[in-house]
Amino acid sequence: MNIPFVDLGTQHRELEEELLGAVASVVESCQFILGDELSSFEDEFARYCGTAYCVGVANGTDALHLSLRALGIGPGDEVITAANTFVATAFAVAHVGAQAVLLDVEPDGCNIDTSLIERAITERTKAIIPVHLYGHPAEMDDIMAIARAHGLKVIEDACQAHGARYRGQRVGTFGDVACFSFYPGKNLGALGDGGAIVTDDSELAERLRILRHCGQSAKNVHPMIGYNSRLDTLQAAVLRIKLRHLDRWNERRRAAAKLYSELLAGAGLTLPVEQPSSEHVYHLYVIEHEQRDALLAQLATKGISCGIHYPLTVNEHEPFKDAKTFPDGAPTARARSRRILSLPMSPHISDEQIRTVARTVMQFGRG
Ligand SMILES: *Cc1c(COP(=O)(O)O)cnc(C)c1O
Repeated sequence: MNIPFVDLGTQHRELEEELLGAVASVVESCQFILGDELSSFEDEFARYCGTAYCVGVANGTDALHLSLRALGIGPGDEVITAANTFVATAFAVAHVGAQAVLLDVEPDGCNIDTSLIERAITERTKAIIPVHLYGHPAEMDDIMAIARAHGLKVIEDACQAHGARYRGQRVGTFGDVACFSFYPGKNLGALGDGGAIVTDDSELAERLRILRHCGQSAKNVHPMIGYNSRLDTLQAAVLRIKLRHLDRWNERRRAAAKLYSELLAGAGLTLPVEQPSSEHVYHLYVIEHEQRDALLAQLATKGISCGIHYPLTVNEHEPFKDAKTFPDGAPTARARSRRILSLPMSPHISDEQIRTVARTVMQFGRG
């Protein structure tokens, strides 16, 4: 029995009729760019997150890039983020000509070590991008207090954390803006690329709408240099259907994670930690093992597909070799990147599949 890393097939078979119906209705309407379907999705996603506005964009990377642009961040500015994120977070900073400053990971969690932030702030620092990595919210109380004290903007990278809560409140509602990706494997995924930005700031939302739509505020009026970065109407129609299932899917992810953690307890593995402040939505279920590569190979021989998120820290990639890091080289993130392993996880994984994966991990531990 092969166990996929993410089971999109079962999800899509369950919703096939509804999804194909939504696609057919967009095809029938011939409204492929902007339009009612997109604005309805934007209203529904804003309501889901608990924000006043949502602006659909082409992908999560653009969501971050356009947010930085809309906040006026550019050349000469520094933006603080995590060393152990997906490279796209740092790419967005580079796209506006600013410098990404990369902070190490907290010793007992997966997110940015907030005790390092003040040390990294200079007169050039303009913003912080906390990443809610793996679906676990970053320590937003600390981050918002520091940001307020230093007059910094906060852009939440919530690309892996749709629906996660911090102190009972959804991620996406803490910073000035928050960015989401609807890449197919994310907790809310389109049938292709997609992204969104949520905010309570009406002027910022308006600027983002102009930026994503060719810098156009009205027909033939282009007040700023814009991008072609709209969320496709077809994808918006698909996302409206999937959004109705997101809370149920996240509950199933949490139950799957709980079962993994029960089965893997006591084997000397490092398992994911859920802070009391947070409700983790387990985009990824990440364990640590001293012989990660051998374990990965063993799982593969049993037909179990895993991932590594991420095998290198951002500063180990060529474009960020000279980026400032705190502490130098982000040693904790770097050491951990050699030990981490993401086990199969999606709302459609069965308990039997989880038991098979756990058994294989435990057998390796003993062998
Ligand atoms: C997926 C992801 C992105 C980028 O989103 P795309 O839609 O793939 O452009 C950015 N940051 C994080 C943390 C992500 O997981």
